[in-house]
Amino acid sequence: MDSSHNAAKALGKVFLVGAGPGDPDLLTVKAHRLISQAALILHDDLVPSTILSLAAPGAEVISVGKRYGAKGATQAEINERMIAAARHGLDVIRFKGGDPGIFGRLAEEIDALEAAGIPFEIVPGVTAGIAAAASLGVSLTDRRKAARVIVVTNHQAHADAQAESADWRGLIREDATLVIYMPGHDFGALREQLLAAGCPLDIPAAIVSRASAPDERRAFTTVGELDALPHLDSPAVLLIGRSLDQAQRRADSAAALAFHEADLILSSL
Ligand code: SAH
Repeated sequence: MDSSHNAAKALGKVFLVGAGPGDPDLLTVKAHRLISQAALILHDDLVPSTILSLAAPGAEVISVGKRYGAKGATQAEINERMIAAARHGLDVIRFKGGDPGIFGRLAEEIDALEAAGIPFEIVPGVTAGIAAAASLGVSLTDRRKAARVIVVTNHQAHADAQAESADWRGLIREDATLVIYMPGHDFGALREQLLAAGCPLDIPAAIVSRASAPDERRAFTTVGELDALPHLDSPAVLLIGRSLDQAQRRADSAAALAFHEADLILSSL
């Protein structure tokens, strides 16, 4: 690295920012301020256009996502780009869906920035599992039913990573809420793994697709009937645990109420 060449120029800073689950109202005030001031924004696919449109006119907004195996920037390219911009004195926003530290490759980027001597700051965001719980009307740590929250990803969903099978045996506990990111679509296989690990059949499960977005969808089941879950659009997060045992009833009564209100409006016309 040619540090003498850059010595005179002040380094820019890299902000590793959580964009929340999708609803612009769930951005932090700090994330909002940063995105409206930054000259360069490098974002993942999960950050929606409604949020990117808050960037200042003239800001460079670049997608570095690589969703669904599509060709995107490699991690090394992303790191190089952030470092090069900061060396040119630019402040950079590295915008990630949800919270940057939850399944967001934050640690690799911090390591690279640190090794390059670039100042950085982490700005947390509302992670998908928390947004999903809010939308389900449940407390992940309902102390009457759950003493812990376990955040995992279902590696089994990815054909190339069968060796990374999560060790469900250590995770299955009556008093835990499991929050499964990237749950995949093979809920039949997941059901088998959970049952093999000793998970009771009647534990409630819910999947939330596009949590907090206008087209959010939810579906409910139990571990015993996990294979009957519909395939909702990505991104989706799967929650499992006794803390969810009122979630379906709440969703049904909210739907009944909405129906009743629509009925009242129609009959008053
Ligand atoms: N850093 C992100 C997670 C990135 S991993 C966060 O904190 O939320 C990508 C996975 O996150 C998706 O496969 C999905 O499981 C989950 N996810 C992200 N946004 C979501 C949303 N709006 N609704 C449901 N799941 C979401």
